[in-house]
Amino acid sequence: MKEFDYVIIGGGCAGLSLAYELEIHEKLKDKTLAIIEPRDKYKRDKTWSFWRVTPHNFDDCVKKNWENFSINIPDKTNYLNCKSYPYQSVDSGLFYEKIINKLNENENISFFKDINEINLKNSFIFNSVPSIKKNYQNLWQHFCGVEIEAKNNFFDDEIFNLMDFDCDQRESVHFFYTLPYSKNTALVETTWLSKINDNSQKDYDEQIKNYIKNHLNLKDYKIIYKEEGAIPLFYPTNKSEKNKINIGTAGGMTRLSTGYTFLNIQEHSKYIRENIENISNVKKYKISTKYQFLDEIFLRVLEKHPEKMSDIFFKMFKASPKTVIKFLSNKSNFLEDLSIILRMPKFTFIKALFY
Ligand SMILES: Cc1cc2nc3c(=O)[nH]c(=O)nc-3n(C[C@H](O)[C@H](O)[C@H](O)COP(=O)(O)OP(=O)(O)OC[C@H]3O[C@@H](n4cnc5c(N)ncnc54)[C@H](O)[C@@H]3O)c2cc1C
Repeated sequence: MKEFDYVIIGGGCAGLSLAYELEIHEKLKDKTLAIIEPRDKYKRDKTWSFWRVTPHNFDDCVKKNWENFSINIPDKTNYLNCKSYPYQSVDSGLFYEKIINKLNENENISFFKDINEINLKNSFIFNSVPSIKKNYQNLWQHFCGVEIEAKNNFFDDEIFNLMDFDCDQRESVHFFYTLPYSKNTALVETTWLSKINDNSQKDYDEQIKNYIKNHLNLKDYKIIYKEEGAIPLFYPTNKSEKNKINIGTAGGMTRLSTGYTFLNIQEHSKYIRENIENISNVKKYKISTKYQFLDEIFLRVLEKHPEKMSDIFFKMFKASPKTVIKFLSNKSNFLEDLSIILRMPKFTFIKALFY
């Protein structure tokens, strides 16, 4: 069986981002790489959105940039500007196509469907398959989104809606998210932050249909694309080893309070590429412990007081948008952290320290 210098397990967002980063920086000229990916065909299956707080390799896969957004709770809307850090949506279909085309140019890179097809003995492994134990106490961000096409121009595509809490909460945390790609197309997503221990919140199609009809007041449209997913708001149990680094969701690249992962994956790929020559000895890359600690408290409050969360998110965005965006994207300094923390209900958060 063939041996490779590097093996990437899982050719999804993290696996392909890393392979691309290594390839474009010529780290695979004299090294071999195997990518293990069971899927038969790559097609658009996700839309990765984030504030562009740092450069990345995929500007040409961006479907749309926005410099304005809103957040609302019943009877109140806050309009915000994000010109310094535009919000971007990457189309996974374009992302996969760009990367696969590039990787196919290098004979040192091979794809396999099953790990048993190769010999791993002398390889350095980057694993992106998360180990998730069944635990009904875990919180997830679970969601379903549809891209719709309206018959006539309907949307203001200069502004997106990050969170609309003016919807049925079912004793949980629920909001809609609308990304208008053009005047007549938009992604409309229903999102829940909760334990997935039953199917009672999974009538997604009905939720979306009602929202489009009764909140957006749009009647004449068709669905042109659909995506569904669940992001763990806890760390998978994958362990690093001497010859193995976990990447992507498996590598703890998700910001637990928000589910944002894409840009962290890009930064992790860059870190690995910069240290590839000494990869067995390099310090583990992680989201800083400051955010891990703050997110843990935040999620404890969310679990105990779901009814307070819409107000908490709304208040958070009363700080300067630049500060909130930096905070949510792991780029804030101490004073910026403080300006967010001071907007939180102090008693509730202090109590959460001792749950
Ligand atoms: C629908 C959806 C939308 C999301 N939207 C956003 C967003 O807007 N912004 C954001 O920041 N984050 C978002 N996320 C979170 C995160 O960015 C994505 O989940 C991202 O795809 C994580 O990358 P990954 O490589 O860890 O996992 P994946 O992209 O899921 O890649 C894992 C790969 O491993 C393969 N695989 C599975 N089992 C095996 C096996 N046994 N052996 C080998 N390979 C295997 C899979 O086929 C897959 O290709 C979203 C997640 C989902 C599910």
